[in-house]
Amino acid sequence: ANSQLTSFRNVATTSSDGKHPIIAANIGTLDDLQAAIDNGAEGIGLFRTEFLYMDSDELPSEQSQFDIYKTVVQRMAGKPVIFRTADIGGDKELPYLHTPHEANPFLGYRAIRMSLDQPDIFRTQLRALIRASAYGNLSIMFPMIATITEFEHAKRIFEDERAKLIAQDVAVGDIRIGIMVEVPAAALLADQFANVVDFMSIGTNDLIQYVMAADRGNRRISYLYQPYNPSVLRLIKSVIDACHDNGTPAYMCGEMAGDQKAIPILVGMGLNEFSMSATSILKSRALIKELDSREMVTLANKTVSLASTSQQVLKYVHQALG
Ligand code: PEP
Ligand code: MG
Repeated sequence: ANSQLTSFRNVATTSSDGKHPIIAANIGTLDDLQAAIDNGAEGIGLFRTEFLYMDSDELPSEQSQFDIYKTVVQRMAGKPVIFRTADIGGDKELPYLHTPHEANPFLGYRAIRMSLDQPDIFRTQLRALIRASAYGNLSIMFPMIATITEFEHAKRIFEDERAKLIAQDVAVGDIRIGIMVEVPAAALLADQFANVVDFMSIGTNDLIQYVMAADRGNRRISYLYQPYNPSVLRLIKSVIDACHDNGTPAYMCGEMAGDQKAIPILVGMGLNEFSMSATSILKSRALIKELDSREMVTLANKTVSLASTSQQVLKYVHQALG
């Protein structure tokens, strides 16, 4: 990294008027963890645990998962780490699970849907996470939650495994439980989710594709994959507002959280944590230092009330940074 940016490595993220959003890292491996630490991540906002399953010829054991989860929270030394339970399916298939082929994998058997359908795999992962919680600051979030019922079901399984471990005198830490908001149905019920979760993390990579009905990997329709579309921004703002009305923290771990054009808008919406790839952390921290959050509130409100196209949104951003 260039030397001007490295001065931002060991300082808290601060806007020009003294607001403190957290900048965290998205990781999937222990190599990524090192990059996150080297770039001054204030936490891990997304550990994509499915990589443990994908880098293996068989289901990873409870012990092998525990070893990795423990290492991550220990090396983060008390900074918050959010583990996402396995987001398998969609574009991430596991050859050894022999899942039937589907016509619409992104609308199909993936993530929490699969975890609730194959609870043995889910329970093994939860036990590894619960045991690791004794060694650091550990939170768990469930991917692709669409309904309150799914969340309650997943949380019940978590509570059950936690109670069993405690009964066996296993050391267990405090664990926050949250959801990814990446299905529009969950975004639209955010006020109700806010009553039952400890935090929400907006997964814009999937949320945008579901709002726009445009496959995130299909080049022929990539013009419709629009992070700055006012429809997407309105939905994001409504989720953040619903969280804050209830005192629930609102995070984001999709690519948009590290996008230099989106960050001013998201600061204005009051997003509490921006989780991004390690290489984006320092420049994002440098950018936020230049932003007055009150001016960004005005910008955010303009983008959701006045703009009708992505181009107009980008024009407002350009003017606000002028
Ligand atoms: C997302 O959907 O925004 C997200 C962070 O999850 P993934 O990219 O792993 O689907
Ligand atoms: Mg996703």
